[in-house]
Amino acid sequence: VNTVDYDDFEAISQLRKKYNFWWHIDAAFGGFAVLSLEHGHLLKGWEHADSITIDGHKWLNVPYESAFFFVKEKHKLIQVETFQNSNAPYLGDPLDNFNYLNFLPENSRRFKALAAWFTLKAYGKEGYKEIISRNIKQAQKLGSFIENSKDFELLAPVRLNTVCFTLKDVRDKAEVENFLSRLNDTGKVFMTPTIFNGRSGIRAALVNWRTTDEDVSLVQDLMQTAINKTVQ
Ligand SMILES: *Cc1c(COP(=O)(O)O)cnc(C)c1O
Repeated sequence: VNTVDYDDFEAISQLRKKYNFWWHIDAAFGGFAVLSLEHGHLLKGWEHADSITIDGHKWLNVPYESAFFFVKEKHKLIQVETFQNSNAPYLGDPLDNFNYLNFLPENSRRFKALAAWFTLKAYGKEGYKEIISRNIKQAQKLGSFIENSKDFELLAPVRLNTVCFTLKDVRDKAEVENFLSRLNDTGKVFMTPTIFNGRSGIRAALVNWRTTDEDVSLVQDLMQTAINKTVQ
């Protein structure tokens, strides 16, 4: 979550020849890399996982609390055993009459799929490819600003759309918090506090379809103004 790091999926696939385990991939952000020409390779081998989750409320830009579960068909018995509404004979045999309520944790569900469907129809694969590639470039732009700055430093390489950084020569957590409050109080940008490898830091995740390169330049200016005030 801090840095959108990836495991080596080909290597994990190999481990399964030796060990028996359930392999789940949390691809909340990371799954969308499949649409990027330069980053698609990060997902090589992920199709061998038992289950994968991807968040719609992140890069798909649909309202909060909307996610996709992909579970291998061969696991459907274990899914039904785990999730079926066993106390509801009126719902019929869960295997005869397929219904998501017998296959997933939620029983009652809002029609969240409609928003996801509409946005996929509206933007399609090409549209999302553009949004994702643009957000990744913007994260890289912000990343190089930080790398070349005398005031900030990256806590991890920018792998995809998330920039994890801190203040250079930071004395304590309060200094990071102080800077972050100044920045967020501008009302023009919102970043979140984090801890990475034991160090206090800040996390900027770029997922919005409307974010422009000018917005990133604006954020860089705001960061500079906020840090100048923080160290005064
Ligand atoms: C956002 C995120 C989560 C949390 O998922 P929610 O569906 O928003 O609760 C988990 N893992 C990763 C990698 C994330 O980016």
